[in-house]
Amino acid sequence: MSDQMSDQPQDNPFWSPAVARLQPYVPGEQPKTTARLIKLNTNESPYPPSPRAQAVLGEAGLASHLRLYPDPESTELRETIAEQFALKPEQVFVGNGSDEVLAHAFYSFFKRPEPLLYPDITYSFYPVYCQFYEIEARTLPLRDDFSIAVEDYAIDGAGGVIIPNPNAPTGRYLPLAEIEKLLQLHSERVVVIDEAYIDFGGESAAALIDRYPNLLVIHTLSKSHALAGLRLGYAMGQAHLIEALNRAKNSFNSYPIDGIAQKVATAAIADREWLTDNCAKVIATREYTVAALGEMGFDIVPSTANFIFAKPPKVSAEELFTTLRERNIIVRYFNKPRISEYLRISIGTDEEMEALVSACREIL
Ligand SMILES: *Cc1c(COP(=O)(O)O)cnc(C)c1O
Repeated sequence: MSDQMSDQPQDNPFWSPAVARLQPYVPGEQPKTTARLIKLNTNESPYPPSPRAQAVLGEAGLASHLRLYPDPESTELRETIAEQFALKPEQVFVGNGSDEVLAHAFYSFFKRPEPLLYPDITYSFYPVYCQFYEIEARTLPLRDDFSIAVEDYAIDGAGGVIIPNPNAPTGRYLPLAEIEKLLQLHSERVVVIDEAYIDFGGESAAALIDRYPNLLVIHTLSKSHALAGLRLGYAMGQAHLIEALNRAKNSFNSYPIDGIAQKVATAAIADREWLTDNCAKVIATREYTVAALGEMGFDIVPSTANFIFAKPPKVSAEELFTTLRERNIIVRYFNKPRISEYLRISIGTDEEMEALVSACREIL
């Protein structure tokens, strides 16, 4: 859909100059029918969400609940999140997907004259928000092995730092000791750690919140909780940071979380056991895939996520992407500097990954 938008004339007289200048984020393909497709392109869960979350959707009277506006403060949901991370409810902010939480974080903390720091290879929504909010960005190159060189972030006068951990689309994880260095280097500005994939083997920086007034940690239910369609994300940090996010939210859309999403998310987050089991399954399938593709000669970045970032042998990444697409297997290809020889492959079910592995064997 966004591809079509960019075909439109950029000088439409009705458009504001600001909108004419935008280069919107382009999400991964969401095919209208997934019947014959193996969909490994947007890091969704291959398994359905927690049965406790599913049960909420079957409750009688759920629809009549929609007659009223939802709780604008998502009180029960924030209490449930706070409990999981040994925080207070006033240290939690919820949004309509973590992309919306990120939008308010960019406005609340990074809209300043000084440049925001982030890696050259990272989540591609960050440059989009910088453009939208007119925030200057300074990108710092990852090392050749795609790890983040924290020492490069020792830059005076920065407006803040944002990194995903594990990073996207590389899947590489930065240990908490390194995150602490970033927090200490930029103690006067906010450091946002976007932990969309943290449940697949990493340790959350949420444990550092009480010690660092400049730390904001962002999570999503889209990946490890198998609820991408629900649109629920949250931020955790000291209460003064959460207050800033609420000021931004309540100046934009004061009811972003619908009443059903609040109930489903509350049930999902309370089901810690389901989360652990689901992630263990995905991790086991990831290790199988890494071993099988590694044997074929793929160069694979060490992953702590529910996807792998892999460079195929013999053929270009673009060619393999196209050939897999013809076989109804969709992965993600980024035609961008430094990463155009890699494919990002989401971890599906064992059967789906076996199908991917045998397709690669035939092609290569
Ligand atoms: C998927 C993803 C998000 C967005 O998640 P939503 O909650 O679905 O908006 C944010 N950050 C990173 C790094 C992601 O990969």
